Amino acid sequence: MRMSSDPKTLVHQSPCSHAVAWEQSDFSHPIELNQCLTTTLRRKTMTMNILGYATHSPTDDLAPHRFERRQPRANDVVIDILYCGVCHSDIHSARNDWRSANYPLVPGHEIIGRVISVGADVTRFKTGDHVGVGCMVDSCQHCSACEQGLEQYCEEGSTYTYNSIGRHDHMPTYGGYSEKIVVSDKFVLKIPDGLDLAGAAPLLCAGITTWSPLRHWKVGKSSKVGVVGLGGLGHMALKLGKAMGVEMTLFTRSPNKVQDAHRLGANNIVLSTDAKQMATASGQLDLIIDTVSYVHDVNLYIPTLAMGGTLVLVGYLGDLDPMLNSAPLVMSRKSVAGSLIGGIAETQEMLDYCGQYGITSDIEVIRIQDINAAYERILKSDVKYRFVIDMASLAT
Ligand code: NAP
Ligand code: ZN
Repeated sequence: MRMSSDPKTLVHQSPCSHAVAWEQSDFSHPIELNQCLTTTLRRKTMTMNILGYATHSPTDDLAPHRFERRQPRANDVVIDILYCGVCHSDIHSARNDWRSANYPLVPGHEIIGRVISVGADVTRFKTGDHVGVGCMVDSCQHCSACEQGLEQYCEEGSTYTYNSIGRHDHMPTYGGYSEKIVVSDKFVLKIPDGLDLAGAAPLLCAGITTWSPLRHWKVGKSSKVGVVGLGGLGHMALKLGKAMGVEMTLFTRSPNKVQDAHRLGANNIVLSTDAKQMATASGQLDLIIDTVSYVHDVNLYIPTLAMGGTLVLVGYLGDLDPMLNSAPLVMSRKSVAGSLIGGIAETQEMLDYCGQYGITSDIEVIRIQDINAAYERILKSDVKYRFVIDMASLAT
């Protein structure tokens, strides 16, 4: 365990349940300390030791790492992980781009696996089922957002698949670059029969993150939708939009992606670095899904919105630079919005839709041992269009 002067950081950095128990108590009484130690001992004997890949600092490579997961509760599903997609968020998290990383950090939130056991209260899943786990493994379940099935906006904060603290056992959560995961049945998704399992993994994040704005802004056959950036999220937006019969326009910096973009579902392709091409798209789009991962000039895309149109940021978190000019928004009632993944019911809806229309991600399957090289390729926009880890490689 790495030491820190900040007790909260110390707690979060430690995978050990003893440290977590310290957070719960001020140890003002010896009996409390005894209870804590008893609890710690009990927890120690009631955890599962799991092999995964973790990073221990923003600059470390990912490497093999053993950690503890909770022993399953009555409403838990235990999943043998078969595949895990590699999202750009994994890189942001591993490298602490969002200043919230707790180490050791095991990334991975595009998880496909096979159920190996279920708790006594689980009725929706059985041993052998193919299931998915996305970016969340829990939420408060009683706030207004959760009641609307929008667990991603849980007012108490949803529990993420990795880099969170479990709300019941207070143990750190670790992601899908690992052999097994234990998840409450409410946050486990059914994978429709017939979908390629490796290709379905990215649906759990890239798929739902682009599906949710398409649904929220009520996109239909007569809509015109733009996508900024052809990466993991961007290519799923094109595929989903195409299946919905939407006219899709891709904005890309990469001329070498033009041919693929047509195949993936783009009706129009605009090189965002070419002002003339940008002008041809003026006033066209009802919705733009902007998937760019880093700070960029959002003002460039506002003229391509039709009156009343919305540009929804899903990629970049932070201050915009250059700043957003409000004049074109005011003059044509345009909006700039944001969107985070999607709720559990909405994720199942998207998976069922993909099952019905045979939609999966375009993937490059890799071994876990190649994960660090894969991160470098993603940073160069050199992936077509999602890496998926074959988790069987963990045992080799
Ligand atoms: P990705 O595969 O790396 O794709 C991002 C694409 O954006 C690149 O392929 C590139 O496309 C374009 N791009 C990258 N850097 C750029 C820059 N500096 N300027 C302009 N364009 C740039 O990443 P991803 O996995 O799709 O994720 C995209 C972002 O969404 C990440 O920041 C991730 O953390 C975030 N994310 C958000 C949510 C959410 O719920 N809101 C969920 C998942 C991921 P071209 O080569 O075509 O230009
Ligand atoms: Zn993701």
